[in-house]
Amino acid sequence: MNLPSLSFFRSLRKDNQQFAVIGLGRFGRSVCSTLHKFGYQVLATDIDEKRVAEALNERIVSHALQIDSTEPAALKEAGIFEFDTVIVAIGNYVQESVITTLNVKEGGVPHVIAKASSEVHCKLLKRVGADHVVFPEYEAGSALAKTLTKPSILERFDLDPDNSIVEMIVPDEFDGKTIADLQLRNRFGLNLLAVSQDGKFQINPEPTKRLEKGSAMVVIGCNKDINRLPI
Ligand code: ATP
Repeated sequence: MNLPSLSFFRSLRKDNQQFAVIGLGRFGRSVCSTLHKFGYQVLATDIDEKRVAEALNERIVSHALQIDSTEPAALKEAGIFEFDTVIVAIGNYVQESVITTLNVKEGGVPHVIAKASSEVHCKLLKRVGADHVVFPEYEAGSALAKTLTKPSILERFDLDPDNSIVEMIVPDEFDGKTIADLQLRNRFGLNLLAVSQDGKFQINPEPTKRLEKGSAMVVIGCNKDINRLPI
């Protein structure tokens, strides 16, 4: 996660119990059903009456309304401007998505998250005031490519574009060596945060701890140093 995203998520109200989702395509429905499953109130809207009826029938929302979100008056009447957080889940209709995002921001909603379907769409959404833009197809594709090219990396938390915390399988070359033997800080500039043992992680392991191939370890450092590990 990059720093602007972090500050956006930190700005969200922790006690917020309600969300509005505009657009009931696959992405919007997935957001709705997950929020609803977690016990949050979800108001969904879509221009397509059939999609609204389906969402109500499938009980993935608390309320759903058929409105054209390019109309500010319709959004106001639906109460969208009263929400703290609104998700604009219209990926394939760029014009509608951009106008909707603009309307919702002009209506005074403090936190607007919008789905983009291309780089240009992403730029436009930011220009009209989206507080956070997601690009799920790009993000999922990039995550898959990273997993395919580095299968030993189990999880990766990007602190910023250059630095990460990474959970990885202990390389064969580290098998039987102690943390002191490995000298990860001197040789690679990395800090070892945790190693797994019997299915649990030991945090801040002792320098005398021996690593075993096939178990997991968590390191923090810059990406170019992480890439120098024998994985
Ligand atoms: P996919 O479903 O292909 O993964 P997606 O989740 O981005 O993509 P879209 O195909 O962009 O979804 O559709 C989002 C929804 O937005 C559709 O149900 C569509 O009816 C709705 N929509 C489009 N224009 C408007 C509008 N002006 N007002 C409200 N809803 C709209």
